[in-house]
Amino acid sequence: MTAADALTPADAPPPHPVTRTSASAAPATRGASGHGAGSAALSVAIDIGGTKIAGALVDRRGTVHATARRPTPPSTARRHGAAPAGAVGAACASPGAAAEAIMAAVTEVIATLARSPEWARVTRCGLASAGPVDAARGTVSPVNITAWRDFPVRTRTEAALARHGAPVPVVLVGDGVAMAAAEHWLGAARGRRNALCMVVSTGVGGGLILDGRLCPGPTGNAGHIGHISVEVDGPPCPCGSRGCVEALASGPAIARRAAAMDWRPTGADRSAAAVAAAARDGDPVALAAFDRAGRALAAAIAGTATLLEVEAAVIGGGVAAAGEVLFAPLRRHLATYAALSFVRGIEAVPASLGTDAGLVGAAAAAFELLPDPALDAADPAPPRRA
Ligand SMILES: [Zn+2]
Repeated sequence: MTAADALTPADAPPPHPVTRTSASAAPATRGASGHGAGSAALSVAIDIGGTKIAGALVDRRGTVHATARRPTPPSTARRHGAAPAGAVGAACASPGAAAEAIMAAVTEVIATLARSPEWARVTRCGLASAGPVDAARGTVSPVNITAWRDFPVRTRTEAALARHGAPVPVVLVGDGVAMAAAEHWLGAARGRRNALCMVVSTGVGGGLILDGRLCPGPTGNAGHIGHISVEVDGPPCPCGSRGCVEALASGPAIARRAAAMDWRPTGADRSAAAVAAAARDGDPVALAAFDRAGRALAAAIAGTATLLEVEAAVIGGGVAAAGEVLFAPLRRHLATYAALSFVRGIEAVPASLGTDAGLVGAAAAAFELLPDPALDAADPAPPRRA
């Protein structure tokens, strides 16, 4: 028995009957499976990050019907006595046990969602994870979840859903692709046919909308702009390359740059948020640190626009929350790097969905990438297309 099995609540709901009351009131169904038929389809959305595992039931309009969350259990073994017996983290005696504890948290999120009265409407599941992901194999190796290396999260999630009576397909995407799906569906990229969406935070990630569609690429990593090199002789990056955007524009990179320029903060906080606050007050070193980050982002965005003719870059994440402190130098440098006539009009705009982008994006990816109409036999609300 796995830890996930052990943590499955004994009161898990039984599998849905093939015929339900709600189905009788709906138009004739075409689907062979009873699950989700006869009412507006819902996607299970799960967002797996280094600090939390969030879940929701989301309909085709983007409305969230139920939510659940658990802290992400640690990937490292706990010290003796650090966790009470029976706690999820108490099992973290080995990498395998830590991996199972994290999966158990995913299963607990599913179990909580399964108690929703609307669980019967679930037709599919979107799974967004910190990367790298391998969507083709259904595995993840998140940089910030070291216990998971080539972890088969898709099949394990499919099994957990089936145990709760929802034997539905699961699509796996990286968190950058999920953010792009969310912003295209309901956010700042809505109505755009070609856009680069990026998260600039502790790391830098992204996803692409091309010809009106989400383009995750074969392994679910297309648009991972944080590891495009914009400084060919730049510093080594943990990914193995040099001069990556992430090494120049992430929050830690901005904080490092400020420190290297002998920035003297007024308080003890030396984070990128503190650098942003100082930049807003006109501190020249802080402004220079953000100027460099904006320049790196501008070079990468201009390169992407030149390659793919994206018309907009939608930028979210904690560093983007600095607002004009980042966007002003970014746009100024875009005018330099986006030089050719067909990229000169590219716009850099803030993302609009905030912290829910991962969950909304996981659902958006599920509705877009799992389009099988049999899943939505009686769904009265067809998917919105750009
Ligand atoms: Zn890199």
